[in-house]
Amino acid sequence: MPPTKEERREALKAVYHQAKGCTSCPQLAATRTTVVFGNGNADADLMFVGEAPGANEDRQGLPFVGQAGKLLDTLLGEIGLSRPEVWVCNVLKCRPPGNRDPHPAEIEACQDYLLRQVELIEPRVICTLGNFATKLLRGDPTGITRLHGREEVRVIGRRAVRLYPIFHPAAALYTPANVEVLRADFARLPELLALDVPPQPKPAIEEAAVPDAGEEDPAGQAVPEAEAAGSPAEDERYRIEAERAAESGAEADADADERDPEAARELEPAAVQLGLF
Ligand code: URA
Repeated sequence: MPPTKEERREALKAVYHQAKGCTSCPQLAATRTTVVFGNGNADADLMFVGEAPGANEDRQGLPFVGQAGKLLDTLLGEIGLSRPEVWVCNVLKCRPPGNRDPHPAEIEACQDYLLRQVELIEPRVICTLGNFATKLLRGDPTGITRLHGREEVRVIGRRAVRLYPIFHPAAALYTPANVEVLRADFARLPELLALDVPPQPKPAIEEAAVPDAGEEDPAGQAVPEAEAAGSPAEDERYRIEAERAAESGAEADADADERDPEAARELEPAAVQLGLF
């Protein structure tokens, strides 16, 4: 019997509480404001995986709340979906200072949280946004320019899913021609969601207990450093550029949070972090 939505939420909350205090990456733990665990529908068929929180996300504790998030919302709306219906998260749950690229060791340290999310939510389709998520979940250094818009069945952790790499929305902000490419790739999502769930791998006879984040997960994908590190030309530091642009245009959002810091803190618990739609 698949878990109920309520059971998935509770299990996700437990992982969130674990992630909230994570200090696996000393620099990120020291510089973050919040751990941006992910948010949306614990029972989602569609999961989006971005790169790492930016300044707005770090402040609000929620993924994709800046300009890239607005574009994500628009494109979702165009295919008849909204954020409360999907799950949105990132490869890294903490903001890299100055929006630098995630380091390979950080990706590795954080990947169990993502694998747990996949395992608990059991999405049909995982849409990787940009190079970092695509390379991590494919375990291969092929870049997003070659892969975008092509679905494939992949086993992620213990789950077979349809993996669908697309450009990161921040890349589209940075290079407006990419918005149309992104729109065309988005347009195929309803068709992918309508496909049957791919055949699932047989569970191991003696299934090991799910390890805590930070421990080694025998079922998880090891990501060779060189593959995860990739900073190819197509990355173009787009996230940094777009985030900087977004930050200057998103001061109003930030002000809204800073108006009542006490209230913002009270809103931080798992209910808000997870959306609990
Ligand atoms: N870029 C990401 O990859 N993730 C976010 O949450 C925001 C911007």
